[in-house]
Amino acid sequence: MPPSARYRPDPRYLALGDGFADVVAPARFPSHVLRHRDERWAARVGLDSLGDDEWERHFARFEPLPGNLPDPLALRYHGHQFGSYNPALGDGRGFLFAQLRDGFDGRLLDLGTKGSGATPYARGGDGRLTLKGGVREILAAELLAARGVDTCKILSVFETGERLIRGDEPSPTRSCVLVRLSHSNLRFGTFQRHAYHRDLARLGALVDYAVEHHFPAARRDDLAVTTAALVRLVACRAAATAAAWTVAGFVHGVLNTDNLNLTGESFDYGPWRFLPTYDLGFTAAYFDETGFYAFGRQPNAVLWNLGRLAEAVLPLTTRDVLEDSLGAFEPAFHAAVRRAFLDRLGLAPRGDAADDGVMDACYAFLAARRLDLDRFYFDWYGGEASAARALAGPAAAHYDHPEFMEVRRAWTAHAPAAPERLGHPYYGGAAPCSLLIDEVEALWAAIADRDDWAPLAAKLAAIREFATLHGRDPSVMDMP
Ligand code: AMP
Ligand code: MG
Repeated sequence: MPPSARYRPDPRYLALGDGFADVVAPARFPSHVLRHRDERWAARVGLDSLGDDEWERHFARFEPLPGNLPDPLALRYHGHQFGSYNPALGDGRGFLFAQLRDGFDGRLLDLGTKGSGATPYARGGDGRLTLKGGVREILAAELLAARGVDTCKILSVFETGERLIRGDEPSPTRSCVLVRLSHSNLRFGTFQRHAYHRDLARLGALVDYAVEHHFPAARRDDLAVTTAALVRLVACRAAATAAAWTVAGFVHGVLNTDNLNLTGESFDYGPWRFLPTYDLGFTAAYFDETGFYAFGRQPNAVLWNLGRLAEAVLPLTTRDVLEDSLGAFEPAFHAAVRRAFLDRLGLAPRGDAADDGVMDACYAFLAARRLDLDRFYFDWYGGEASAARALAGPAAAHYDHPEFMEVRRAWTAHAPAAPERLGHPYYGGAAPCSLLIDEVEALWAAIADRDDWAPLAAKLAAIREFATLHGRDPSVMDMP
């Protein structure tokens, strides 16, 4: 069946004019085996009615969707990688495939690929994605969404029957092609590219596109003021995402300026890890030998990247208004981290100072005791309302410690935000829903060793149950 009535194609990228992307051809793969299809998001964008053949035609062969982009577009961008500028970046193994509206909230969504073939920006790479990389993308996006992080969604993954050689994993290894839904594909590095070429007309066009489609509240009468207003809103969104990663215990691993989306939506999940314990120095990527993007450095890395974005748009406006815009980051980060922290702990907010008191006491305890971080949130969801359960659990010895008295004192006046959730079997269960590296490796090993996809399916079901319990089911959220 063709797309349903909810499908609203809205290809806007071409209206930017030339100079922003290159038309590319998708790779042809030896085989297509569907491994992941997110029905909830397919329904939101009206693609749930596609039959298996149609899904494969569009998301493995990349035949254009009706009324959408006629050809895939490899997007042009530059970026700072680990602090050094690289003007040779761009979509090396992906492209923008289509644009469409979210059937629930009306926002413009991009359908982009990963592993769909080498482009002019491949820099000698094969243009492919490992199947393990695809599986890791699915897992990261799913748990991040469940923990309230603004993230891209993985709509589709096909295994593609190739054997890839990678230096960092047993090779040859299996291949896949992935399609993700994102609110925008404008990266900080997209702006940097046009600034590098001193192309003020295209920089202005990008600002205009971003404001029209993603930040209408930034619209002012003149471009200089609009640009500063845009940077302020981008800084606030980036702060909220950095805060959400902090509270989710997520280490992205590669926070280069080409991996930061203008809308703040988190994406591009390569060497990510979730924290086993609260550890500011925890580093995700094996190649990040200096801890450049360690857990505790993420907020500053994002702020530094915002500085590069501001530098890029400086020719359109003035330094003092941009500095003012960047000044929005820190208070936005602090407010967002407090809100997200209370939310993860299931406590109703009582006001900034009291809430900060709880958060500071908890982090001081977590940094000192190094207990299982996910278990802490699981054990104490709703605060004192969980005391009997927490004190009977496997981490009870930690909670007997004098330092923990500070925590309990700090939250005595905080009521649970959703006490009914404590009656759910999840909180009666033995362990929190987490995604530490050993589990990720075990999920992959079942696939690699026995082609057994059942553990992955069970894990995704468990994450979705957690998301639904915590009010984050994409089939019901954001309903108009
Ligand atoms: P990343 O650090 O994963 O965001 O990638 C940085 C750049 O390298 C981007 O321009 C990617 O498109 C490109 N890239 C990464 N892996 C490959 C690959 N296997 N083939 C072609 N380009 C790649
Ligand atoms: Mg990237």
